[in-house]
Amino acid sequence: MTIRIAIVGFGKIARDEHLPSIRSNPAFELVAVVSHSRPADIDCAFFSTVGEMLAAMADMTDAVAICTPPGPRFAIAGEVIAAGIPILLEKPPTATLGELDDLIQLAGAKQVAVHTAWHSQYAAGVKAAADALEGEDIASISMVWYEDVRKYHAGQQWIWDAGGFGVFDPGINGLSILTRILAEPLLVRDASMLFPANRQAPIAADLVFHGQDHKARMDWRGEQDEQWSIEIKTRSGMNICLKRGGSELDINGVPQILPPHDEYRSIYADFSEVVRTGTSKIDRAPLRIVADCFLIGERKIGGDFV
Ligand code: NAP
Repeated sequence: MTIRIAIVGFGKIARDEHLPSIRSNPAFELVAVVSHSRPADIDCAFFSTVGEMLAAMADMTDAVAICTPPGPRFAIAGEVIAAGIPILLEKPPTATLGELDDLIQLAGAKQVAVHTAWHSQYAAGVKAAADALEGEDIASISMVWYEDVRKYHAGQQWIWDAGGFGVFDPGINGLSILTRILAEPLLVRDASMLFPANRQAPIAADLVFHGQDHKARMDWRGEQDEQWSIEIKTRSGMNICLKRGGSELDINGVPQILPPHDEYRSIYADFSEVVRTGTSKIDRAPLRIVADCFLIGERKIGGDFV
């Protein structure tokens, strides 16, 4: 059976990754797009709201990928689950933990499958890193996530609003890798966040986790070289280094040969199983770490971001 899928929120990630992944996977057929403005080059039904889409074609839709910013996602997901249709949630799955828990409960009651799609967990080196760390005691963790917000998020206003995640929008990708590869839960002990005076979301953050030397640093100012890396040392002396967002892996300094891998194509391979089997795939741990930072983090105010 082909899975007839709709995309809700047709912006950068929907166009760059979801559309080609759906088109290249014979398990799926794109039947509708819901967004604020109609894309010129999409050859399927178009609606401005998910309510209109469900009213017109709920019985012709087997799955929905929700690719809006996190703010409106809860309401959209609730409507789709209530209609009995499985959902894929772009990361972060919701703006708050309460919203995610509510959706999980609703999905359970309606027996609808949910997939929280943390794309970085699908990066080529992540599974191999998790395998290498199995049974190991962790001595230290150092995550560094540096990029220039002007380069990757030019013109995106929502990302600076309250609930827009700020530097945690990319940083949560690294956190999602950590929660995937570590056996123990990662618990925030201290956090320090830098907010531009004219913005509601942080531009840099330093996190310290429980454990002896477990830390993460994320920075969006573009003052350092671009870097998305995680280094983990174990008590047995092993050194695991994931680089370039998890797409490269060194173990004890030796680059590992990894199978060719595409994050979003792998997400859709998994999502087709989620839809077919009706079995949810849910990971709330990365969102919990960010929520804990906002709960206990120290706030510093810097200059305006222009
Ligand atoms: P974006 O370019 O701003 O796209 C979001 C799209 O959703 C826009 O077309 C927006 O329309 C539409 N939209 C907003 N609210 C809507 C609603 N209530 N109903 C229907 N459509 C709505 O953002 P993005 O970069 O694609 O990011 C979206 C999500 O994907 C974020 O959670 C982000 O973290 C994640 N993500 C992004 C990237 C990336 O490289 N950009 C990578 C991985 C994951 P308007 O603009 O007209 O409001």
